[in-house]
Amino acid sequence: MEQTERTYKGFVPLTLPEFNTLTRQLSELLSTQHPSVIIPGEAILGIEAVAAGISAPGRKFINIVTGPYGSLFGEWLERGGAMVAEVKVPFDEVVTAELVAAAIDRHRPDAISFVQAEVVTGGSNPAKAIFELARQHDLITVTDSVSAVGGEPLLVDEWAVDFAAIGAQKALAGPNGVSAVSISPRGWAFLESNAHAPRNSILSLLDLKPQPGNLAPVRVPPNIPTLEARALIEALAAVEEEGLDLVIRRHSTAAASAVAGIVALGLAPWQKDSAHRSTLTTTVRIAGNPKLGIAQPIGIVAPGDGELRGQLLRINHFGTNASRDSVEAAIATLAGLLERYAAPAIEAVRQVWEAQA
Ligand SMILES: *Cc1c(COP(=O)(O)O)cnc(C)c1O
Repeated sequence: MEQTERTYKGFVPLTLPEFNTLTRQLSELLSTQHPSVIIPGEAILGIEAVAAGISAPGRKFINIVTGPYGSLFGEWLERGGAMVAEVKVPFDEVVTAELVAAAIDRHRPDAISFVQAEVVTGGSNPAKAIFELARQHDLITVTDSVSAVGGEPLLVDEWAVDFAAIGAQKALAGPNGVSAVSISPRGWAFLESNAHAPRNSILSLLDLKPQPGNLAPVRVPPNIPTLEARALIEALAAVEEEGLDLVIRRHSTAAASAVAGIVALGLAPWQKDSAHRSTLTTTVRIAGNPKLGIAQPIGIVAPGDGELRGQLLRINHFGTNASRDSVEAAIATLAGLLERYAAPAIEAVRQVWEAQA
């Protein structure tokens, strides 16, 4: 007789082997030999925790603002009492290495922070050049790479990135209820030397410090959300199976094909510099065209966030939507809004994917 009864095995907390797998996966993803801190919540929690942990009166930061997340980070740094020199550019541009170099010469900061790539504006900052400048001036480096990881390279050790906050729910097609911050030994020293860094707090990175060096942990940190951590392990395993390089390539092909599609429709990308566009979203200039003034997302085509509503539309081609089908559907949606024949624009999308195949 067939057994139909199920045995409820009960909830099994994250095991030490699972935790070690996740730690290894994160280190490989970020090209670092150091274990990341696993953040028991959304990426924004890790980002706020970094700001709270490193800010202090007497410390000076350059905070680059190329979108809303950068502004928020600067406010959190100021809340901690640090002096913050903001380098801000219009949101249809990214920062240049020249602007950053001039700001470093002028302000002589201790640290520099920026958002590597912005899904909100569709821009991607010249990260490697910024890290190189930071290295020349011996600055602590902080990057919000939530919308960069999986969409462009992020070589934490090689680029001397001291703090990198990441999440899995953008390019990595993973959960958003757990995230990570990679911290270098220099970064830990910067936290530990800050008397203002939170302790016994949800914002405390020091409370979450992994065991030093290659010492294997003896137990799983108690605060990690089990189901989300398991989902993250699965998502990162899928990335490893596809290959990080190919995941990145899929995102850049999606972006290139989306640009080809909108240009074929007579539209222009919102981000001006073709060399510095996000591979996760393509932002489309609305330029006063009332047909593009959508109130709600249609598939992966979404209105602009906050102050960018009415100025741009976003095509969110990230994660599983970094695909030819999703980009074609988005271009068909835009053609529909414009009341134009979609076929030539979809052909332009197809050609980009074929050329990459
Ligand atoms: C999405 C995003 C975040 C926020 O991530 P959550 O996990 O939703 O908190 C932060 N920074 C950038 C650049 C993002 O794109």
